[in-house]
Amino acid sequence: MSIEQLNLKGKKVLMRVDFNVPLDADFNVTDDTRIQAALPTIQHVLEQGASLIIMSHLGRPQKKLNEDGSINKTKFTLRHVVQPLSELINRPVQFVEDTVGKVVEAKAAALQVGEVLILENTRFYKEEKKGDEAFAKGMSVLADVYINDAFGTAHRAHASTATVAQYFDKENKSFGFLMNKELNNAKKLTENPARPFTAIIGGAKVSDKILLLEKLVDSVDNILIGGGMAYTLIKAKGGQIGNSLCEDDKLDVARALLAKAAEKGVEIYLPEDSVVANKFANDAEQKVVASDSIEEGWMGLDIGPKAVTAFVEVIRSAESMVWNGPMGVFEMDNFANGTKTVAEAVTESTKDGAFSLVGGGDSVAALNHLEKADEVSYVSTGGGAMLKLLEGSKLPGVEAILA
Ligand code: AMP
Repeated sequence: MSIEQLNLKGKKVLMRVDFNVPLDADFNVTDDTRIQAALPTIQHVLEQGASLIIMSHLGRPQKKLNEDGSINKTKFTLRHVVQPLSELINRPVQFVEDTVGKVVEAKAAALQVGEVLILENTRFYKEEKKGDEAFAKGMSVLADVYINDAFGTAHRAHASTATVAQYFDKENKSFGFLMNKELNNAKKLTENPARPFTAIIGGAKVSDKILLLEKLVDSVDNILIGGGMAYTLIKAKGGQIGNSLCEDDKLDVARALLAKAAEKGVEIYLPEDSVVANKFANDAEQKVVASDSIEEGWMGLDIGPKAVTAFVEVIRSAESMVWNGPMGVFEMDNFANGTKTVAEAVTESTKDGAFSLVGGGDSVAALNHLEKADEVSYVSTGGGAMLKLLEGSKLPGVEAILA
């Protein structure tokens, strides 16, 4: 059922959102992008005359326990988002210090039309990550309708993102607007993308993105590879990469990828030259050398000028693009040029009518850093989930709604 078709009048709606927001030392929300992203669905539910029960995780409470082994409730409580949400929707927001159980049930039952209640962090319960049925059932009894708008965790089969959906029939569950938007934008690349279709992949590790690269070879025309991960591929081709990042246990996988691409006629572009440094620091000595002839003691920290020119040319002729991962250590000004120039080329092509999707934490961070996030077609809010979609995997949070 689509969210517009749901009958919400007078109903209680249980909505999973991704309010996993960054906090400062005093627990103030420092970036409310994720709360903002859920607002269209929240507003819709309230406008339709429902009452709303919101659940989310925040951080990794099970991994960062107090010394005595208890949950650090001071740090990880969802109470931190009550005030910011209340200000954004301009109405009071209630909070309950648990996620399931009698107290929560009583609070939920007492909710009136237009009222909003936030439950405590779903990850205070170990059962959340296990996708536990009893825990999920405990959440499901709070409401008549379930909406999942937490794209950022849709690739996890957790109790609140997937298991809970089985307790609602098809007429009473749906995606929220953010989920719809993410899925529709991913489809532009997974179903008949406009060609040439170019993938721009960077970042630190090949191992994180090898599945994505293998899948992309089946659908793209060109793959531009920059960032630290490029050096494993350059070494796999016989190049000398000095002290650049390298995953030696991935050399075979890298060779297999290059062979598959060659067989499929997909062009893989590796940076012809690199900006190399004698230490991992912004004030390091630097020079430009061929990427396959880097001396010991030097490491590639950005793509070089020839690589930039080649990459820009491919990007400017693309009709659809996916970008994941920076081209270099963009956090250091002296090694940000490759990422910056690639970002500019992506936005220029977008202006000319190409479709561009940027997904993955660090490329989004790079784009924000360059203040160019609004100049691409779509910036995904969920790095991991978007990668899984583009890899062709089914997302448990999506399947549970469709089931
Ligand atoms: P990822 O999370 O895999 O997308 O990686 C992003 C990180 O990779 C950023 O923090 C970059 O600074 C880092 N990175 C990009 N290029 C390089 C490089 N050539 N050497 C070392 N780190 C890099």
